[in-house]
Amino acid sequence: MNILVVNAGSSSIKCELINAKNQKKLSKLSIERLNSENPILKFSGKDFSLTTKGIENAFPEALKIWKSECSEKVDVVAHRVVHGGEYFFEPTLITAEVKQKLLEISPLAPLHNPVNLKGIEICEQFFQDIPQVAVFDTGFHATIPRRARLYAIPKSLTEKYHIRRYGFHGISHQYVAQKAAEFLETPLKNLRLITCHLGNGCSVTAIEYGCSVETSTGMTPLEGLVMGTRSGDVDFGAIAYIAQKENLSFSEMEKILNYESGLKGLSGIGNDMRDILKAAQDGNEDARMAIQVFSHRLRKYIGAYAAVMGGVDAIVFTGGIGENSPEIRHRVCQRLDFLGAVLNEDLNREQNPSPEKPVILFSEPYSRVKLLSILTDEQLSIALQTYSLMTKNLKLSKKSIPIAVSARHVHLTQETVEKLFGTGYQLTVLRPLSQPGQFAANETVTLVGPRNKIENVRILGPCRHFNQVEISRTDEFYLGIDAPVRESGNVSNSPGITIVGPKGSVTLHEGVICAWRHIHMPPNDALEFGVEDKDLVSVEVNTGEKSLIFNNVLIRVSDKFKLEMHIDTDEANAAEICQGYHGELHLTEAGATLIKRK
Ligand code: ADP
Repeated sequence: MNILVVNAGSSSIKCELINAKNQKKLSKLSIERLNSENPILKFSGKDFSLTTKGIENAFPEALKIWKSECSEKVDVVAHRVVHGGEYFFEPTLITAEVKQKLLEISPLAPLHNPVNLKGIEICEQFFQDIPQVAVFDTGFHATIPRRARLYAIPKSLTEKYHIRRYGFHGISHQYVAQKAAEFLETPLKNLRLITCHLGNGCSVTAIEYGCSVETSTGMTPLEGLVMGTRSGDVDFGAIAYIAQKENLSFSEMEKILNYESGLKGLSGIGNDMRDILKAAQDGNEDARMAIQVFSHRLRKYIGAYAAVMGGVDAIVFTGGIGENSPEIRHRVCQRLDFLGAVLNEDLNREQNPSPEKPVILFSEPYSRVKLLSILTDEQLSIALQTYSLMTKNLKLSKKSIPIAVSARHVHLTQETVEKLFGTGYQLTVLRPLSQPGQFAANETVTLVGPRNKIENVRILGPCRHFNQVEISRTDEFYLGIDAPVRESGNVSNSPGITIVGPKGSVTLHEGVICAWRHIHMPPNDALEFGVEDKDLVSVEVNTGEKSLIFNNVLIRVSDKFKLEMHIDTDEANAAEICQGYHGELHLTEAGATLIKRK
């Protein structure tokens, strides 16, 4: 399948034709200086001077010339769309309705979305019946939790105008995260990554077990790091003060912050890091300071994001600066030993990533946190995401999946059981659970958190080789603990808790999680549903009265499992399943349908 990826910007358009199946790049074209007289069209090493200007005229003219010279067929056109608002996170087939929605959210990204939409309309006219797909820069950040995406402003304004942090450069963050996982030979779902996209626009993202949980850009791409011409974080008080003193309107201030600030504003030289690094070397003080502010801001975010995730396994640098500047990588990564990240200066200086070697490692072999520089390829990522949308099997089995509600419970080691119930104590079976070999024990314990305690928490047996306390987000809030949403079994770096039994108490240093909603299935069901272990799927839960879609449901396949979806009490309440039930794992009347592969 040949996919033409279109990246339409306000002053340039870049397109690439990619065979998504073998990932071969077939043709590339770009139009630069789009709004000046005679924009330049470049492809196949040739330059063409266009006779018309502006996207409306120059883009169709360029496509006509390109088509007359390029014999490859186009099967799908994929557009990079900067802002998907609250409507679009996944790659989406473009219809009249989708375009209407994109128009509606254009005010959220006035510099980008209108021109993306124009690119779509021009391609629809030019390519007629060929399907068009939108891939969103904000899409990957859909998983950022509310606590990280809300601004602390009056709730009424947040709701009225859909104000929130959306996050950008998601296509690049997602792509390099996947490449890092492949390089480290560890599934993305087991890694905590900090990815730094440093191009003309810059942002840093915390990716916890495959999901974006924090990113530095906000409602618009202006927030966060120092960028080429964008300021990143500035106290609004300073902006209001300047506007008042200089008698400037908000839109004039917005222009200054978007186009005259960042590296350009600090250095007075321009937005290109290469020129600034050279000027600094020649002794230019403003250039030196621009580099320091740029690097300091990024270090600050890396420290913060390591704290957000409770640790980090790798820090990834990408984009023009992250891929090509050992000096910036050095400035950002030096003295990160306290985090477990130890820079190897020689490896950092020796090489940059290249098409032949797209990932380079520049940390010491003993560094617990790996430092990587990775070549990003947003065009390829868009093509692959589009390919997966166009080929995925939407007609999965409609077999109903039984739902069990998992109330708070604990899994304990034999050693902990003995500390709580007495030496030599063995758990006794209250009743067997639906998963073979598992049982709810007669024994219960009390969980003691910093704020409150919860009594009568059921122990599930048999004993395991580690302690794990599974509670809901509501329980966490009540106890005063902020535990991560995790796959069962993954308790590293999770918070601890005190467990009290009739004969003693145990304080765990880690082990509290909020279990990630998941579906247990035996291999033959996995085959029927067309899914594999660790896949994330969407699931429609139908209780008769209410239908609800749960995204990011984890598939767990084992021949020891029986087909069953497990959700916690908060999720059950949201779906109006078995409200108010308290006890161990409880099978309900409700069923779920697996509707989509991710
Ligand atoms: P975009 O965000 O437009 O895709 P890129 O990712 O290509 O941009 O990054 C462009 C930036 O990369 C340039 O502005 C320049 O500052 C920086 N850059 C490119 N090469 C180098 C280099 N060798 N050293 C430092 N910075 C570089």
